[in-house]
Amino acid sequence: MMNEPMNEIFESVKQVLETIPPHVTLVAAAKTRTLEEVETAVQAGITHIGYNYVQEALPIIQAIGDRVQWHMIGHLQRNKAKVAAQRFDMVETIDSLRLAEALDRRCAAIGKKMPVLVEVNSGREANKTGVFPEDLDDLVRQISQLNHIQVQGLMTMGPGFGDPENARPYFRATREAFERLASLNMPNVVMSALSMGMSNSYLVAIEEGSTMVRIGTRLFGRR
Ligand SMILES: *Cc1c(COP(=O)(O)O)cnc(C)c1O
Repeated sequence: MMNEPMNEIFESVKQVLETIPPHVTLVAAAKTRTLEEVETAVQAGITHIGYNYVQEALPIIQAIGDRVQWHMIGHLQRNKAKVAAQRFDMVETIDSLRLAEALDRRCAAIGKKMPVLVEVNSGREANKTGVFPEDLDDLVRQISQLNHIQVQGLMTMGPGFGDPENARPYFRATREAFERLASLNMPNVVMSALSMGMSNSYLVAIEEGSTMVRIGTRLFGRR
């Protein structure tokens, strides 16, 4: 028997999964949640879990293991690249050549090729991470020279508005960049994942071509 809060998470995961088409991956954004909460989400059908901080993720990864895929969805500090290389299945937040090189080096050392997404600061916001749209092609071209990471797509947060319709142009522009990069056929670049959309915006993001949504509040309740 589950207690009431866990029951709510279980039901929320089921409900959100029903609203997502089969080609879209649901990544549960699990920051601040307890092991019990995350475990409940896995029991309800979650297959991908995102964390913003390596240190917060480690005990949860340790407990749950490889029943799910682990995504880094927060800004990765270069001094955490070694642990990220060992423990995560995808890093969604590559936004500089220096970070890409650090991760590539750590992956080379353990004989791994890490799937990554390049994070785009689609709203060109000064306080946000991600590469500016006008610098994206150059960055991907440089990263494509690294042999131990594979660019599998793009990730964007988009400006956080109340009305998700306001995020639509940023999602659309990111999808256009995604398609343009796919047509360039660069080595180590396979554009297959477009990570955009959160609790309030994921349905709009999916309309604009998202194949990966990162959802926290709608699954786990308010933080
Ligand atoms: C927290 C977080 C999310 C999910 O946000 P919600 O509004 O709680 O769904 C998605 N992406 C990133 C990078 C986050 O930090």
